[in-house]
Amino acid sequence: MDFMNLQAVALPESAEQLRREVRAFLAEELASGRIQMRPDQWLAGWDEEFSKRLGARGWIGMAFPREYGGTEAGALARFVVTEELLAAGAPVAAHWIADRQSGQALMKFGTEEQRQTFLPAIARGECYFAIGMSEPDTGSDLASVRTRATRVEGGWELEGTKIWTSGAHHAHAMIALVRTEPVTERRHAGLSQMIVELPDPSIEIRPIRLLTGEHHFNEVVFNRTFVPDSRVLGQPGSGWMQVTSELGLERSGPERILSTFPLLVEAVRHLSRAGATPDRVRLGELVSRLWVLRQMSLAVAGRIEEGEDPAVAAAIVKDLGTQFEGLLVETTRLLVDIAPDPASEALLPHMLSESLIHSPAFTLRGGTNEILRGIISKAVTAA
Ligand SMILES: Cc1cc2nc3c(=O)[nH]c(=O)nc-3n(C[C@H](O)[C@H](O)[C@H](O)COP(=O)(O)OP(=O)(O)OC[C@H]3O[C@@H](n4cnc5c(N)ncnc54)[C@H](O)[C@@H]3O)c2cc1C
Repeated sequence: MDFMNLQAVALPESAEQLRREVRAFLAEELASGRIQMRPDQWLAGWDEEFSKRLGARGWIGMAFPREYGGTEAGALARFVVTEELLAAGAPVAAHWIADRQSGQALMKFGTEEQRQTFLPAIARGECYFAIGMSEPDTGSDLASVRTRATRVEGGWELEGTKIWTSGAHHAHAMIALVRTEPVTERRHAGLSQMIVELPDPSIEIRPIRLLTGEHHFNEVVFNRTFVPDSRVLGQPGSGWMQVTSELGLERSGPERILSTFPLLVEAVRHLSRAGATPDRVRLGELVSRLWVLRQMSLAVAGRIEEGEDPAVAAAIVKDLGTQFEGLLVETTRLLVDIAPDPASEALLPHMLSESLIHSPAFTLRGGTNEILRGIISKAVTAA
């Protein structure tokens, strides 16, 4: 069962040195008040100036070659940077999707012109992407997307609706999965990916708000939207192979275990002040689970560093990791005896409220846990 291989990885000294640099930078950012520690900031914390400051330090596009503005630092170095950003609750949403998956999809499948256009700007922290996969009746079963692209002179015309599109109202582009050929018995055939540049007068971006009024995802409607041939990503018809490769990147990172880490830090501070010794056992349980998950997530990064595609191992870590993120919120809520309050000036009631509002999404976004378990069980039974 090699696909489940999660060998322990020892980080090289260069990665630990990088960690110290990132920590020092983040400590300064937090102390100056330029950023604030919050949970779930890889989805909700949109701060373009912060992204540019990271880009200037070479901490975005670490997987891109130097000729496209990257640093070629590798998956382990990237793991260390992302882990530190998440642990500090830093506002990284603006560049997150472009850095994690869209840029790498462009590296793998894009034309030279597409790479030159987008990758250096992504690495500078100036160009942001959205994910155009889910549709109103199609989330888990992506092969049944109904957004249609029709061949026209010089390109394609898109008609259809995407939903839950995080950050589309700020993004410069979206990689949309669309149907370019009619459905046949081979459901996965006839799909393509297109780079849709935003904003565009033919595209309506309608906010979908959380209960708190927060706005980070959208419904996106294409009304005969023109996409030139130069913005088709990869081969028309290869959309399924490409999108599954992109999903591997979307699911494999430490953001699937660390979204609520800032809440844990704040709860530990609070309980230490209160001197509540019996609760330390529960906190200890959380920390030991987190440590095991962190080692597993690092092992996934180690396999990516070796050039492998550890999709099944990533599915296992995402399933366990997102359950842990929810458990952390629930355990903390019961331990601290403080009412969640989105309007509170104090950090802990505010963080608790944000975490509670966001937590139902942890096991849904990026593919639900039921879908991940389907992937794992297919691999196990085929082995
Ligand atoms: C915070 C957040 C941000 C998101 N951002 C984006 C984004 O930027 N871009 C984007 O494209 N999408 C985004 N999504 C959408 C997300 O990927 C989908 O919600 C997810 O894939 C599930 O799809 P669905 O909501 O249509 O649920 P459905 O597919 O309708 O599933 C409903 C339920 O049925 C279960 N189910 C479905 N099929 C099966 C099956 N075969 N076997 C067992 N159980 C099954 C599911 O597990 C789930 O519990 C986001 C979602 C969230 C919550």
